[in-house]
Amino acid sequence: MTAVPAAQPRVAFTDEMKAEFKALLGDRFTTAAAVREHHGKDESYHPNFPPDGVAFATSTEEVSAIVKLCAKHKLPIVPFGTGTSLEGGVAALAGGVCIDVSGMKDILRVSPEDLDVTVQAGVTRKQLNEHLRDTGLFFPIDPGADASLGGMASTRASGTNAVRYGTMRENVLGLTVVLADGRIIKTGGRARKSAAGYDLTRLFVGAEGTLGIITEVTLRLYGIPEAISSAVCPFADIRGAVDTVIQTIQSGIPVARIELLDEVQMDAVNKYSKLDYKVAPTLFFEFHGTAAGVAEQAEMVSAIAGENGGTEFTWATRPEDRSKLWQARHDGYYAALALRPGSKGWPTDVCVPISRLADCILETKKDIADSSMLAPLVGHVGDGNFHLVYVIDPDKPEELAEAKRLNDRMVDRALAMGGTCTGEHGIGYGKLEFLEKEAGAAFAVMGELKRAFDPDNLMNPGKVVRV
Ligand SMILES: Cc1cc2nc3c(=O)[nH]c(=O)nc-3n(C[C@H](O)[C@H](O)[C@H](O)COP(=O)(O)OP(=O)(O)OC[C@H]3O[C@@H](n4cnc5c(N)ncnc54)[C@H](O)[C@@H]3O)c2cc1C
Repeated sequence: MTAVPAAQPRVAFTDEMKAEFKALLGDRFTTAAAVREHHGKDESYHPNFPPDGVAFATSTEEVSAIVKLCAKHKLPIVPFGTGTSLEGGVAALAGGVCIDVSGMKDILRVSPEDLDVTVQAGVTRKQLNEHLRDTGLFFPIDPGADASLGGMASTRASGTNAVRYGTMRENVLGLTVVLADGRIIKTGGRARKSAAGYDLTRLFVGAEGTLGIITEVTLRLYGIPEAISSAVCPFADIRGAVDTVIQTIQSGIPVARIELLDEVQMDAVNKYSKLDYKVAPTLFFEFHGTAAGVAEQAEMVSAIAGENGGTEFTWATRPEDRSKLWQARHDGYYAALALRPGSKGWPTDVCVPISRLADCILETKKDIADSSMLAPLVGHVGDGNFHLVYVIDPDKPEELAEAKRLNDRMVDRALAMGGTCTGEHGIGYGKLEFLEKEAGAAFAVMGELKRAFDPDNLMNPGKVVRV
């Protein structure tokens, strides 16, 4: 297992403290064991570290009041959106109070004429898109899970559409944030560009709750394309699939999605989603644009695929067929776990420059073939980003050790290729040592920034930086 950092000494949570939180929130503060357990872990193999209490907030002002109470008692503060992250981000390593913002579900403003929206942090991506349905607009960032937009901003999330629309980094225009002393600040705004001072928005995007709690998010929106077409194409081998991706991106074809699933993952998807795709390395595509533009993109990509051993394209143009196809892709993680009932997932997340993608994937697949590990591969390959899921029994130390050995090799390989240890899942505490390696001298600067924002190290201690 990844070494658990010493977050900070634990402060005893007393009955008097509990009474103060109860006075503030009533039934929306609880120390019930089941609720604390639910908030102490994410969707990965990382163990459970429950907080001492969970506070369910409903407004920015309330988050500020909770933070001030925590600051008074020097209690650690762990923000919680929907708990779908994968690197131990919500684990209360030193106890303290979890602030659950999932009840902050108001869509505060939609401005179709400016293509932007402001939401409370607990609004999920699916809730937002449901709300936008009749406006002709949509928000494209789609981590497989129905995550909260505050959590997505905090992990700088992306997903299958990022190759065309960017990540949360490109799509967050502004934030409301509660700082470690309870102050409320607004960053950024609604202007499409701004040269006004330090870019605090981008500092909080990806900070994983270590610098403040995001309570409101202003996001870019996009018009729903006139035409959308999705397709699945199996390949004779994985190199052909990856070369197709590289050539597509290098040709500047504006694919909206281009996802790789290896043969192990395709087998898992077929079994889990009751489909009958060919069990072979496969690319899932989506094209957005005008009808003519989509047809042209599809033709160009089909030609590239054909030259690289892609066999037949299976097209899905009806909305219901498209959503079935992408649901199967989004369920890939659970499909992988279902290959071994009772298992947990250790998901990996390297991202490399596109020209190095084939080498990185092929060398990694060789490592897996030489090991005893079951590890399906999926990837947002248009961005050079791919995931293995080591399907493990976390109670078996030898399996954890083997997953760690393989993961260390893969991350070292990605870093040597100019890549990163995480394209989208973030650091949590699971990737702390990798960030230290990747960032070099900048890692200490991140720690200095953290101390400037949070001198008592109360905000999500033990994550992202060492203090
Ligand atoms: C099946 C599956 C598929 C996934 N696929 C993808 C993918 O394709 N791309 C991708 O990017 N991710 C993916 N993820 C990971 C996950 O969905 C994202 O990391 C998501 O952004 C987490 O959002 P959340 O609301 O669940 O946050 P949480 O898990 O609740 O929190 C994540 C981190 O942010 C902090 N945090 C939460 N809310 C706030 C807030 N309001 N203010 C400050 N800090 C906060 C937490 O303390 C924690 O450190 C996947 C996860 C699963 C289970």
